[in-house]
Amino acid sequence: MQKKFVYNTKTHRLHIVGYCPHASGGYNMIYFNTEDEALAYDGRAVGLCKLCQKKRETMEKTK
Ligand SMILES: [Zn+2]
Repeated sequence: MQKKFVYNTKTHRLHIVGYCPHASGGYNMIYFNTEDEALAYDGRAVGLCKLCQKKRETMEKTK
């Protein structure tokens, strides 16, 4: 199964794969299949990346 979310444990930013340049792998990055999994991992510290959030809103509108 393809992982869709990338979480940076250092900045506490959650990214969606393919939605922004920061969503590539690297140090401090953990992959999750769902947003819920990331929230379960780090709770309230998790914040969705603004770029990814915007992109997701755009994608949903054009669906
Ligand atoms: Zn992002």
